[in-house]
Amino acid sequence: MTRIPGAPMPDSIRHGLRAQQHPARSVACPHCGAKEHRPCTSRSKTRQMPQPHPSRISAWVRATAVCPECQVEPGVPCHLDGRELRDGAVHPRREVEAREVAA
Ligand SMILES: [Zn+2]
Ligand SMILES: [Zn+2]
Repeated sequence: MTRIPGAPMPDSIRHGLRAQQHPARSVACPHCGAKEHRPCTSRSKTRQMPQPHPSRISAWVRATAVCPECQVEPGVPCHLDGRELRDGAVHPRREVEAREVAA
């Protein structure tokens, strides 16, 4: 990467919302069926989605991160009061954890 002399460096690199692929793309999407490293598509498959579907992000988070909230290992769904969260959802802190692992 070449740096332009004198150009200010950003304080923080944002999570690559545009420039980079979302790390959740490393897993297949359970919502639209996009394969690993392929972008999510709309229901009609005619349009690529700029962001992965929420359920894909959850799937990626479950596969990569431990949950600081309910103390589960990667690959294990989040629990609340002994029951899995609905629709494979994850605790917000686990998603933060996954982003740190991916960074
Ligand atoms: Zn998708
Ligand atoms: Zn959890």
